[in-house]
Amino acid sequence: MRIYADNAATTKMCRAAIDAMIPCMEEQYGNPSSLYVLGQEARELLEQARADVASAIGAQPREILFTSGGSEADNQAIRSAAALGKKSGKMHIISTAFEHHAVLHTLKKLQKEGYSVTLLDVHEDGLVRVEELEAAIREDTCLVTIMYANNEIGTIQPISEIGAVCKKHGVLFHTDAVQAVGHLPIDVKKQNIDMLSSSAHKFHGPKGVGFLYVRKGIRLTNLIEGGAQERGLRAGTENVAGIVGLAAALKEAVANMDKNAAHMQQQRDRLIAGLQEIPHSALNGDATNRLPGNVNFCFEGIEGESLLLLLDDRGICASSGSACTSGSLDPSHVLLAIGRVHDVAHGSLRLSIGEDITPEEVDYIIQNVKEVVAYLRGFSPVWRDLMSGKAKFIL
Ligand SMILES: *Cc1c(COP(=O)(O)O)cnc(C)c1O
Repeated sequence: MRIYADNAATTKMCRAAIDAMIPCMEEQYGNPSSLYVLGQEARELLEQARADVASAIGAQPREILFTSGGSEADNQAIRSAAALGKKSGKMHIISTAFEHHAVLHTLKKLQKEGYSVTLLDVHEDGLVRVEELEAAIREDTCLVTIMYANNEIGTIQPISEIGAVCKKHGVLFHTDAVQAVGHLPIDVKKQNIDMLSSSAHKFHGPKGVGFLYVRKGIRLTNLIEGGAQERGLRAGTENVAGIVGLAAALKEAVANMDKNAAHMQQQRDRLIAGLQEIPHSALNGDATNRLPGNVNFCFEGIEGESLLLLLDDRGICASSGSACTSGSLDPSHVLLAIGRVHDVAHGSLRLSIGEDITPEEVDYIIQNVKEVVAYLRGFSPVWRDLMSGKAKFIL
């Protein structure tokens, strides 16, 4: 038995994406920049994919730029807004403390280059407050970059309200929507989103491909110099098969979104209710304002890493923190940002369930997490101290 409950790290490719990609490799393998028919067939596939992606988020095809994934899209969006700001003497950027590292590390570099950065508090529920955002906007603010949904705790930000505030103050708004695209309804025009990052492998498309939506009229800076692909904004021969797979996966995700979300949400809530029965545990992030597939808990007195390994022995693929931070001993910056103390943040578990999760699988997860947590607490010195009263319980 294997239950894959790490869909926030990556997803299994869907059949529609695989089927769409194979002809790109076997038949339409030409270079889209080549003038002969084989090249132009590839070009047509590329432009059809661009149109499909644009219509999935309410954009125009020319506002979609294909990239190598979410990280590149984040880097390019933020660098572009920063460069535009600098031209008019605006070098202040607003973000949050619990963004993905693709955003946080880019901001850190920009700080070294002279930009000032304000990171908004995300509070205990993992949500920014729009009034606090508005209060943080200054004369010299050139960009607000706030993620759509968090990759660790799944909380969904008030994106439309944030977009409205940014529009009112004439500040560019970028959102890292890697966890949201294909999972939540998005309309970039209605929500006043100027730039949006997405990645195919988070919605059952292939890895190594994503896109950046950029509202018409915003000048991008290119990160990769070379040929004139993507209107000169992203050099390099296009990943045609990957892009076609991305579009096919997104089309399928959008078509089934309501049905999938209803099912996942129901199973998510059963999973949360089951895990809440474990003593000295707590759900991380708001209980309802979260991605339909995201469950994230802290269990006091244990190490998340040991929990993961033992769950793996029982066929459950889960995560502690994000895939990017696993392997390092630092607790998740996301859990620290919502106010969890180090010791508690160490004992975290993220289960990101998929569309095809069954109630039996949820029961299996609940049962096994309960057993493994109890087992680990059995020989945890931290737990012993808590039980003897030497240390105080926090949860
Ligand atoms: C996965 C992820 C990224 C990075 O996307 P890649 O395509 O893997 O580079 C960025 N932001 C968020 C929120 C993510 O979940």
